[in-house]
Formats: sequence, C-alpha cells, structure tokens
Amino acid sequence: MESALDRNGRRKMSSPLTAGTYFCTLLRVILLLAGIGFSALPATAQQTNSTMAVANGVRIGGDDVRTRFVVDIDRPVDFRVFILADPYRVIIDLPQITFDFPASIGQQGRGLISAFRYGLLAVGQSRIVLDATGPVFIDRSFVLPPQDGQPGRLVVDLIPTDRETFMRRMNAAAPAPPPLQTATPLPPPPELRRDNNVPLIVVDPGHGGIDSGTVARNGVQEKNIVLAFAKALEQRLETGGAFNVVLTRDTDIYIPLADRVEFARERQAALFISIHADSFRVATVRGATVYTVSEEASDQEAAALAATENKSDVIAGLDLRNETDDVSGILIDLAMRETKNYSIQFAKDAIDAMRGVIQLNRNPHRFAGFRVLKAPDVPSVLIELGYLSNASDVRDLQSRDWRDKITASLLDAVKAFFDAR
Ligand SMILES: [Zn+2]
Repeated sequence: MESALDRNGRRKMSSPLTAGTYFCTLLRVILLLAGIGFSALPATAQQTNSTMAVANGVRIGGDDVRTRFVVDIDRPVDFRVFILADPYRVIIDLPQITFDFPASIGQQGRGLISAFRYGLLAVGQSRIVLDATGPVFIDRSFVLPPQDGQPGRLVVDLIPTDRETFMRRMNAAAPAPPPLQTATPLPPPPELRRDNNVPLIVVDPGHGGIDSGTVARNGVQEKNIVLAFAKALEQRLETGGAFNVVLTRDTDIYIPLADRVEFARERQAALFISIHADSFRVATVRGATVYTVSEEASDQEAAALAATENKSDVIAGLDLRNETDDVSGILIDLAMRETKNYSIQFAKDAIDAMRGVIQLNRNPHRFAGFRVLKAPDVPSVLIELGYLSNASDVRDLQSRDWRDKITASLLDAVKAFFDAR
C-alpha cells in the first residue's frame, strides 16, 4: 500500500473552484488528445503491441479522510477522470492499455474506495471504475513519468464531500463525457451476403471488458464462459447454411445494453439470444434457465437476477443521465405483443430441446424485465446456462462435451422455431 500520502501534502487542499477550473481545462485538453489518439489505435481489441502502455501494479493508500489510488504504468498516458452518482463512482478513462494486475484484485477497497474494476470499454479505450463509499471529491489527479528506476504512476486523490457538492460538480463537468458508443461505433452490419430467406440470428455473449459478470470460486469469469459458448453456438447454427449468425461481441470488450438491442434491430434479426451464467447464494441450485421479458417477474429470484444483469451499464461506469426509454407508443406496443409471443415460443422450443439432454433448472422458463430483451420487433430470449455458484455447473460450463450437447439442442430449437413460422 502506498504510504507517501503526503507528497505535496494536505496543504494542497485547493479550493473547489480552483480545482474545478483546472479540471475542466484538463478535461478539455485530454478529450482533444484522446479524440486524436484513439482514432489512431489498432482496429481490433485483442491486438496488443509495443505501443500500448502496460499497467502492472495497482494499490490504494490512506483512509477515509484522504484516499490515494495509484496505478503503476510503464509510460505516461492521457487520461480523464470524472464522477457519476447513484451509486457514487469515480471513472478513469485511458487509451487502450494492457492491464497486468493480479487476479481478483479490486474486490476489496480501502478508505473512500469500496471496490474497483478495470478493463476494455471500447476499441481503443480502457477504463477503471472506482466504487466510492459516499460522495467524494477528486482533489488531484496526475501522471508521473518513470524515473530513477521507479515505474510511472497514475495517481488519483480522493477526499470526502457532501452529496450536494458532489452533484454540483458532476453536473458542472457537463457537457458530460461523450457517450462512448458514438466515440467508437460498433462494426457496421455485415454485408448482405445472406439471401433474405435465411434468417439472421444475433447471439449476444453477456458482459465483457470492464464488466466481468459473475465470478466462480475457482476464478472463472462469466464474460469468458459466455463468449466461448457463443462462438461454439455460432459455429453450430451456421453449419448447414440454414441460418446466418452474428455475435454482438467476439472479443473481451464491453457493450452497453442498449447497443446490444440496437445491434439486433439494425440488422433486422429474426431472433436474439443473449447468453449468460448465473450465481445464487444457495450453492446447490443448478441448471439452465430460459428467460423472456415481462414487466412482472415470475418470481423473486428472477426479479433479482434481472436487476443484477441490468446493472451492467452502471458497473461499466456509463453516464445514464440522459437515457430515455424509447420503447413506448401504441405501434411499438402492438409489435411488442407479437414479438413477445414469438419469444415465448422460442423459449419453449429451447426448453423442449434441452430437456433430458442437459441439466435444467427446476423452473426452466421464467419472466423478468431484462433490459437486453426489450427490442419491440426482435423475438428475444436470455439463456442462463447454469450457475457459477454450483460446482457441477461450473464443471459443465467448462466442458466441451457439455457445450456440444447444448449447442446441438439449441440448433434443434432454432429449426423447430423457424419451421413453425
Ligand atoms: Zn450475466
């Protein structure tokens, strides 16, 4: 832990106004630099090269009077820091860097930081999200270049404040940082290589990048499990040429929930399948569950799960202040009703196909208000493959044999669904 909290000391407690003006100018400069810098970065998220900075250490020092967050980094980088409320978070945006941190770091905080996470947010952009214990004030933030054998360091100092000051400063930083989805647009729809009689299925591996999803006791992360599964499912569904498949992500990158829905709508997908893995406090609970959307959850567990999954944007530190719910109006309502029926039909097909082949949850078709299932015109289901809190399910989820069985079942389900239509 960092002990030299007093570097440039507490007397440096500048007035909010001075710090605020400085911060705004810094933000502007950084945004400008970032705009240029990001566009020049490599086009694929997996690519790493020597031009990418490496963060290879992280620690939190201090207490709830002043907390210092430090990242060791092998060279200076541009960055921007901003705050978001409800819950209180401090967001550090960076160009794409390689994180070389010990596994499971960030689950425990210190001082004013209760936890933190990090990862790729979009192509060319990495992010660190600090969960704050209450309203905080970014007293200082700076980067020190490497010198005298010491690594470079990115430093953010936090001190407590009250909610009113926090909210004022958050709003004063407006215009809010640009929505990242426009900064780094999703790949364009695929070439219309398909003839229009071949249905397009969008498979959506949940979470990704900065949002790991659920983590099993052995350290396996939901975002990785579901990505591997989605790739296998894509392959399976495309064999035979009866269906075209596109994945919302094929790498470890974060995608906002609304963008996943838009992705399917823009491509006029005939079916949207979101893939997840669950976790529950009772370790004996296991098996796959298929969810369809409903404002009224079928039970408490389903409601709680939807609430957790819908937090993905908060976890990734997205600014949701201006988000509007565009799913409204009578026409959309009518379309939704039809779409809902198709969604329920596919859920039934999927359960019929999987029954007896793999372990199903005792109540395998459930309803809840998942944000990602709200396309008014694309039949959508969310499949929780199993529970990362159950040892047998974790074994299954990592087994190729199990994956083969379930993807084969889902191919049967997809065939049954489209045959009936
Ligand atoms: Zn999930």
